[in-house]
Amino acid sequence: MKRINPRLAKKHRAYTVQELAEKLGVHKHTVRGWLKKGLPAISDAKPTLIHGAQFQEWWAKQRKVAKRPCKPGQMYCFKCRELTRPALGMVEYTATNAATGNLKAICETCDTMMHQRARLANLSARMPGLDIQITQAPSRIVERARPSSNCAKTEGA
Ligand SMILES: [Zn+2]
Repeated sequence: MKRINPRLAKKHRAYTVQELAEKLGVHKHTVRGWLKKGLPAISDAKPTLIHGAQFQEWWAKQRKVAKRPCKPGQMYCFKCRELTRPALGMVEYTATNAATGNLKAICETCDTMMHQRARLANLSARMPGLDIQITQAPSRIVERARPSSNCAKTEGA
């Protein structure tokens, strides 16, 4: 999410989608997206009006959800908007460097691909009892850079 100052929406005012978007410096499609994600509108009547105070409250809640630490064995699914378990207990870890990488798993509930940064050292604590497939991206590049001679040596030994 883009950095937004929710206080730009005044607590005692109601805004149309366009007005709120202008106030916060985002596209009105972004505001429409928030409405779909649960930002409360004052009523179903057109035009849609959003109360400043309700926006601030909703925004604070979203921030909290995004920061909520995952329990072991769970990942955050952006489609379900909650913590879910990886389908079939399978997680893929791709190293981006020696210490950290990206976890990838499929949401058990909605089949959406979930992504999360993780530290290699924390992997087994983060995903206990799960089947973690580890891909070492950097070393694969090294292997490709130095072809067959190394492999032949290891195979012969
Ligand atoms: Zn999901």
